[in-house]
Amino acid sequence: MISFNEPIYVEKGLDYITDAIVKNRRLNGDGPFTAMCTKWFTEKLNSKVLLTTSCTHALEMGAILSEISPGDEVIMPSFTFVSTADAFVLRGAKVKFVDIRKDTMNIDEALIEQAITEKTRAIVPVHYAGVSCEMDEIMALAKKYNLYVIEDAAQGMMSTYKGKALGTIGDFGAYSFHETKNYTMGEGGLCIINNEKYVERAEIIREKGTDRAKFFRGEIDKYSWVDVGSSYLPSEMNAAYLMPQLEIAEEINNKRLKLWDIYYKELKSLEEEGQIELPFIPNYCEHNAHMFYIKAKDLEERSALIEYLMNNGIKAVFHYVPLHSAKAGEKYGEFVGEDKNTTKESERLLRLPMFYGLKEEQAEYISSKVREFYKR
Ligand SMILES: *Cc1c(COP(=O)(O)O)cnc(C)c1O
Repeated sequence: MISFNEPIYVEKGLDYITDAIVKNRRLNGDGPFTAMCTKWFTEKLNSKVLLTTSCTHALEMGAILSEISPGDEVIMPSFTFVSTADAFVLRGAKVKFVDIRKDTMNIDEALIEQAITEKTRAIVPVHYAGVSCEMDEIMALAKKYNLYVIEDAAQGMMSTYKGKALGTIGDFGAYSFHETKNYTMGEGGLCIINNEKYVERAEIIREKGTDRAKFFRGEIDKYSWVDVGSSYLPSEMNAAYLMPQLEIAEEINNKRLKLWDIYYKELKSLEEEGQIELPFIPNYCEHNAHMFYIKAKDLEERSALIEYLMNNGIKAVFHYVPLHSAKAGEKYGEFVGEDKNTTKESERLLRLPMFYGLKEEQAEYISSKVREFYKR
């Protein structure tokens, strides 16, 4: 059976965890491995970053820093993971869902303005599959209406928009290091803060509402409770698992891109025959091969294809149930305008196995089985 996902494991992963336990004797947050990861991201992204317990928590930090309050409205796509909405609903916001573009499955930037009201506080673009949203237009709208932009770049590490790393364009950005993502620490994330004026408060929120970070830097002689907050710092063991992946980040990215290119090349003929659709990468985007998806004709054909692949030892999956049609989505959100693409396109989408340990021959084999399905 070819799994849909296997968490990435690189050499040194275990050595670094052992170092955290045996050599450093430091298991709680913000020890040497967290510092190494933080340094790596700071240099890579040229922004202030804080390692977190998840992307969900990084988004929650973004929501607190944006001072989202009960009654505020936040605009996002409905085709996304629950956390995108949850982080803002927790602060009492109402979610306004906007339709996606058919080509990238990202929020349709042309439909955002009609969803803005005097209660709107923020736009949350989700860079689906590590392919960027049209950020220039989103940032222009945010400026015009004085809104925050919190980028859900959970899938976007190593991707860029017009040369800028995803997550560094809006006010705040969030990465995920969940085991299904390109780089992982089991559960974990990164909060990216792109405006210096929010950095101090971000540190406080992450440390249970205390000014402990300042204390450790020797800037104050004792720390205390100064603001709201939670516990958003990950254990050193998790950071130790992530660090060796960062050391070979380019190599990991290239390997994934190679697998992605194999799928694309092997399935191109099916697209030309009009049987399926392949992912679209706009030229303003450099992507990270977070996933490889295809679009079948409809829900029925997709189900048949999943079953066919399963019978051939291949696990393919789909996602997401659009949030506006989920129970909590109906309660906390509302779809603005017409749902032209969200439901229809989400029902056609199928994800093929994609992970660092997948072999090139396996990607070729999987592609051949997809072709075989359509030849029957
Ligand atoms: C994975 C993912 C998340 C959640 O990440 P966690 O680290 O598991 O909290 C949020 N948004 C999107 C788009 C994701 O793909």
